[in-house]
Amino acid sequence: MLSMRSRLAELFRREYRTPEELLFEKIKVAMELYENYGEYFKAQSEFRDLLKAYKSAIIKSNDLMERKESFKECFICSVEERKGCCKEGLENEVTVNIILLNWFLGYTIPSEREVKGRCFFVGERGCKIFARPYLCREFFCKRLMNRFSHEDYVEISQAIAEELTLLYKLCEYIKKELQFILGEYLLEIDITGYS
Ligand code: SF4
Ligand code: SF4
Repeated sequence: MLSMRSRLAELFRREYRTPEELLFEKIKVAMELYENYGEYFKAQSEFRDLLKAYKSAIIKSNDLMERKESFKECFICSVEERKGCCKEGLENEVTVNIILLNWFLGYTIPSEREVKGRCFFVGERGCKIFARPYLCREFFCKRLMNRFSHEDYVEISQAIAEELTLLYKLCEYIKKELQFILGEYLLEIDITGYS
């Protein structure tokens, strides 16, 4: 049986025929980690507190983006016009750690692509995952920037910075604990692994 470290390294050495193959492999590894160590993490108050703060930060960023109509613009661009940045293949911005975090927060990870040619996670109402990758949260295209006033942009950037700092802390926390339990460096649980 290969160690977790070797399995993760193997994931990113392989060549995949379709964009979702790598994602499915990440989900498989995440499931194994979640089944074996999920309860271990949930029992730690420091981890629960960080999760709670991260969830609140996501809700705060989402509320803000809803109010500033950033989601509406992305919905029109991505779902109605079938343009924009949520393209097929970008689902691989979702790392093993981000899959784990969605489960820890009680959210599911979709199992099939709903909109052909778009990111695996695009649905009829836009992005379907709750805890989203760094790139998806910090990217603002020209179309969005034209919508925002300077004050809007400052407010949104601050909310996103808070959310992504917590995401980073949680990813580090999970990685450090798993490294401690398994005795191996698991840098790959934060790697997107596509180019
Ligand atoms: S960020 Fe810009 S390019 Fe991407 S979906 Fe939104 S409006 Fe479209
Ligand atoms: S994960 Fe969500 S936000 Fe990121 S590219 Fe896919 S649909 Fe877009």
